[in-house]
Amino acid sequence: MIKTRFTEMFGIKHPVVQGGMQWVGRAELASAVSNAGALGILTGLTQPTPDDLAKEIKRCREMTDQPFGVNLTILPTLVPRPYGEYIDVICQSGVKIVETAGNNPKPFLPKFKEAGIKVIHKCTSVRHGISAEKAGVDAISMDGFECAGHPGEDDVPNLVLLPAAANVIKIPMLASGGFADARGLVAALALGCEGINMGTRFMATKEAPIHQNVKEKIVGSDERATSLIFRTMRNTSRVYGNSVAKQAIEMEREGKTIQEIGPIVSGAKGRVVYETGDLEHGVWSAGTCMGLINDIPTCKELVERIVSEAEAMIRGRLAKAIAA
Ligand code: NAD
Repeated sequence: MIKTRFTEMFGIKHPVVQGGMQWVGRAELASAVSNAGALGILTGLTQPTPDDLAKEIKRCREMTDQPFGVNLTILPTLVPRPYGEYIDVICQSGVKIVETAGNNPKPFLPKFKEAGIKVIHKCTSVRHGISAEKAGVDAISMDGFECAGHPGEDDVPNLVLLPAAANVIKIPMLASGGFADARGLVAALALGCEGINMGTRFMATKEAPIHQNVKEKIVGSDERATSLIFRTMRNTSRVYGNSVAKQAIEMEREGKTIQEIGPIVSGAKGRVVYETGDLEHGVWSAGTCMGLINDIPTCKELVERIVSEAEAMIRGRLAKAIAA
């Protein structure tokens, strides 16, 4: 067992968290991760309405008696979403852990605190981590440039971002972006973190509620297989580098607006990729850690393998490296 301030604070067995993932973070995955002793997270906006989120939380609770959380990402969307109503549903649901992302969490903290909810804020820079800590969040999930989805605009990879953040952030911090195996967990601990957050790695598991083609594409791809879209809009997103992503980048080069690019990059089209396995139907998020993913285990096999190999590495190769 690897015990950290994060596992203690959040009441989980292993220092591993499944990050919020649009269209992927449903009850099947979140419950499987939590049942494996890690922390599963439902993705709030995957549910079309706040009422659907309430039902999904209830469904997840029927599938696990372990703690799980809900992700709420506040970034530009093609169709406005009623964030306040999603927050109300989360607060009334009895869920005790929320992962916020995309924007300053300060305005929402009083409601979450009042409901006894612990907040993990995911951010992509040291300065945003400092301001979230000052605002009163309980933990930070620091997301480096390697990550899938939105890496921010500073392009700092985790080998520098995490220790720079650990120098100044006092609350427990998770390492996010590029983590997929035991070596990543040991590195995260060494870099000053108290656990890892994984998205893409959990997509390639038996329980992830996405088409087998997507899982096999992740296994078959290397670390160079992603593309960065929305750079020109300062809303960078790392996605699988398919023909749609390349077309979107070309349209950005031509100066096209989000209204013009929207129809090909919409989440609604990405959702079809996950449902049908048609990998060229839309854009879908994936991280550089695809280069480290070689199989499709159950969540339990994955979490137990990562933790046991990390323990063996710390007790074995690393301990032995110290000269007598
Ligand atoms: P969507 O269909 O509303 O938008 C598709 C993409 O276009 C998203 O990346 C979005 O950020 C971007 N976009 C929309 N309007 C924009 C604008 N005016 N300027 C720049 N970029 C713009 O997205 P969706 O799939 O329904 O997802 C809902 C939200 O959740 C989006 O903001 C998305 O970025 C975010 N998200 C969350 C997660 C997560 O794990 N929680 C993962 C990926 C994306």
